[in-house]
Amino acid sequence: KEALTLNGEEIEKLREDLSSKIKESNIGAYVEQLTNKEVTTSSDGIPIAIKDIINVKNWNITCCSNILQGYVSPYDATVIKNLRNSGLSPFGRTNMDEFAMGSSTDSSCYGKTLNPHNPNKTAGGSSGGSAAAVAAGIAVAALGTDTGGSVRQPAAYCGCVGMKPTYGRVSRYGVTAYSSSLDQVGPITQNVEDAAILYDIISGHDPLDSTSANVDYTPVTPNLNSERKLKIAVIDNFVEQASDEIKQGFEKAVKALEAAGHEIVHKNMLDTDKILSSYYIVATAEASANLSRFDGVRYGNRKGEGGLKDMYTQTKSQGFGQEVQKRILLGSFVLSSGYYDAYYIKAQKVRHLIKDEYENIFKDADLILSPVAPTTAPEFGSFKTSLEMYLSDIYTISVNLAGLPAISLPVDKNSEGMPIGLQLIGRAYNEQTLFDGALALE
Ligand code: GLN
Repeated sequence: KEALTLNGEEIEKLREDLSSKIKESNIGAYVEQLTNKEVTTSSDGIPIAIKDIINVKNWNITCCSNILQGYVSPYDATVIKNLRNSGLSPFGRTNMDEFAMGSSTDSSCYGKTLNPHNPNKTAGGSSGGSAAAVAAGIAVAALGTDTGGSVRQPAAYCGCVGMKPTYGRVSRYGVTAYSSSLDQVGPITQNVEDAAILYDIISGHDPLDSTSANVDYTPVTPNLNSERKLKIAVIDNFVEQASDEIKQGFEKAVKALEAAGHEIVHKNMLDTDKILSSYYIVATAEASANLSRFDGVRYGNRKGEGGLKDMYTQTKSQGFGQEVQKRILLGSFVLSSGYYDAYYIKAQKVRHLIKDEYENIFKDADLILSPVAPTTAPEFGSFKTSLEMYLSDIYTISVNLAGLPAISLPVDKNSEGMPIGLQLIGRAYNEQTLFDGALALE
């Protein structure tokens, strides 16, 4: 909000300050420091950091993968056009898990991003670079993408605000697809009001994205109201699975909300293991289709000289990291004939069930309050298997499966000073209530 009031010279000064902070920073939040005026084109815009999965004309875009080294974006994503039209400009590429697959930003081909609160801990993922940059003050705000929590979870681990809009609210045009029916771009900011401002700037119908919702859009920022009294649901069987420190932060927040005159109602939902299975089938199935384009022909660092098959094999096995290859295999498996009905169709049915369960809760509540992750930011290397990492997504992925908006914000710190984040989940297309609730919790 403050940056919006700056004039041309002051913005120039801000860009210079951030530039030198980025150089000094050792948290690995940045993939590349793109501050060259010719490259950024609008030198006078308020600088916003951009995850390395969103196309910015004339910038490198690699999705933090070796397979895309050297690829230059031929066009701006719609969200970038929207930023430019509002006096903001892309400034710096932020680190992420390769192709947004992960929860820790340590699967990037550029190396890991450290949590600014403690360098032994992860910044979360996959938009860990964006969250770390905002938390460390080397970016005033950033854009990330959220397929199963990748904006909200790193924001929670780093102590900033991360918001995932309703599916279809923000254009995906120019955003490299991981799982097309789940992906949404969202702001990562220092406070709720900044998130609302950035959300308003990037939202709205886009004819270039066939999944963009053609619904009425009223900006939320002019109508922000922290005084609204809301009915907030708590999903008891979800909260039970959190660590003690998260539970304590949660209880404290519930008490504060009650004391401020909000009504709390208690609910239950489908087991988290069913939600987890549904997500990792849908997401990997879509990823296996989306990533097939990186074959060395149109995209990708071409490798292999023994004919077409060798080129495909070498390009993909040398270009993609381990986690990405694992997901392509899993996704191809659940879509293959013989397993399609047993896995993919079943996962889609569970997805519908999840949506119905949320709709039921919203018959009796304005918002849902939930943890963002079962723990605060984990130490590097604390997940021994992929499954352990996947289990840390239990609170975020159902929101994407149901297409709902949600916002994560810091509410407390643990005894080591690590941020504790909680999320509010709202009804589809009702971001106004979501932001109002977040202001009450902030
Ligand atoms: N951690 C989840 C995954 O690995 C979510 C990632 C995301 O939202 N991009 O799929």
